[in-house]
Amino acid sequence: MSHDPLRERVGLLLDGEERFSSAVEEVRNPGRPQEVVGTFAVGDPAHIDAAVRQAAAVQKGWGGSDPADRAAALRRAAERIEEHAERLAVLASRESGSLIALCRWEATAAAQAFRNAADHLSAVSGYAEHGDAAIGDRVLVHRRPFGVVACIVPWNAPMILSANKLAAALATGNAVVMKPSPLAPLAASRLAQIVATCLPAGLVSVVGGGADVGEALLDHDLVRKVSFTGGGATARVIMARAARTLTPVHFELGGNDPALVLEDADLEAAARGIAAAAFRRGGQVCFAVKRVYVHQAVAAEFEDLLVAHLDGMRVGDALDETVTMGPLISRRQCEDIRAVAARARAVGREVVACGVPVGELADGHFHLPTVVLGAHHEDEVVGIEQFGPILPIVRSSSEAEMIRLANDSEYGLCSSIWSQDDERALAIAGRIEVGVTFVNRHEFSPQGSKWIPFGGVKQSGIGWENSPAGLGEFLQYHSIDSRSSAAASA
Ligand code: NAD
Repeated sequence: MSHDPLRERVGLLLDGEERFSSAVEEVRNPGRPQEVVGTFAVGDPAHIDAAVRQAAAVQKGWGGSDPADRAAALRRAAERIEEHAERLAVLASRESGSLIALCRWEATAAAQAFRNAADHLSAVSGYAEHGDAAIGDRVLVHRRPFGVVACIVPWNAPMILSANKLAAALATGNAVVMKPSPLAPLAASRLAQIVATCLPAGLVSVVGGGADVGEALLDHDLVRKVSFTGGGATARVIMARAARTLTPVHFELGGNDPALVLEDADLEAAARGIAAAAFRRGGQVCFAVKRVYVHQAVAAEFEDLLVAHLDGMRVGDALDETVTMGPLISRRQCEDIRAVAARARAVGREVVACGVPVGELADGHFHLPTVVLGAHHEDEVVGIEQFGPILPIVRSSSEAEMIRLANDSEYGLCSSIWSQDDERALAIAGRIEVGVTFVNRHEFSPQGSKWIPFGGVKQSGIGWENSPAGLGEFLQYHSIDSRSSAAASA
């Protein structure tokens, strides 16, 4: 039987080669669940053990190599990702339901993440020297890699989230064993395979599978650091598991980003930007706007403008270039969003479904962009990370109240302030308890940014990605405090 060219067949990446295991799972297009996009090989504890042991052996040479050589390898990886960008983008769009335009951006941003890490490497390499030569006291402070890093990534932006981890961990001299999400493992695995062709065999491995494979990786005693992007519930399980060996964790987690629309905002720009930021990937973005606080003096006008923007959204196949919102990742995700909307309606909120369905959506996991008007800060739909196309709008009476409500959350990923008074907006931005605050934008992705340390405070994360701070997550200190033999004998 000939191989279907539309079906991607992805193996494990072990010892620099693609290996096919007997256990295989299908990946389906969330917009057309009858369409199998491809299959991926599922690993077991023996694969994890082989991957980690080899990574530990190869890392010794890589960790001690010249940073300039590592930077050159990362730049080659960036070029190779770009050569394959269109193929990767189509694959990611088909398996995750993200719009093809967004996946093209993601593939390019993934390549850029490798260049950024190469550029930043000199800032975190080398050593500092301190001490007093006159009394024979010399201190050398080195930064060195952890060794083998376990990277566990989610499905919603599989290429850029994998690239962020791979680039920073490899640049700083670590080896990586990566576990992609079983919901969208194909493009992330292909990306890692492409990167691996520029590196010593076994420095990067990929083992596919679900929570059990992830746990086998966490439990390996040669794993020295865990870098995880995903949900808070999973992070709690991972942290408890890592606690057994006190393995340090780096977490990029969920958010409940507030947008604050002040009475002096450009309401048209705010409605346009918030519509784009809240419904990007159908709201399945960690830094999507997930609640809006709008000053009551302008609330009615802002809500009308927002609904008008959402009514213009075209919901359909992610590969259709005229579509502006694709499907959700799973039937369950659709059902969860429908249930949240129903409960909001049951407590008296106005739930408005917007947008235009395009084409045949019958079987796909589609949900129209939806706003909840008249929401209260205490409502379920305001407090949770919905992770879908539903956006509550809360009317607020003052700037002080908006700041208080924005900060009244267990999350602290991103936020945005919308005002035409730049100084006022900056002053408010400084008072929001999050990792990143935007002013008059929120749709811009800080993922893959060269200079913005991306991450969350409170329960949105531990540590940072991007920028020299992101590389710092994969380095630890080693200091040599030396007394000269002459001074010691004196
Ligand atoms: P998830 O937590 O369900 O899964 C993430 C990864 O963890 C997957 O690879 C999964 O297989 C693995 N996993 C699950 N249980 C595990 C276990 N017990 N041990 C080891 N690994 C395990 O998250 P998801 O649904 O894939 O992604 C959505 C979540 O990710 C949202 O909360 C979103 O906000 C968050 N996210 C955060 C960022 C960020 O940078 N802050 C970016 C994207 C997504």
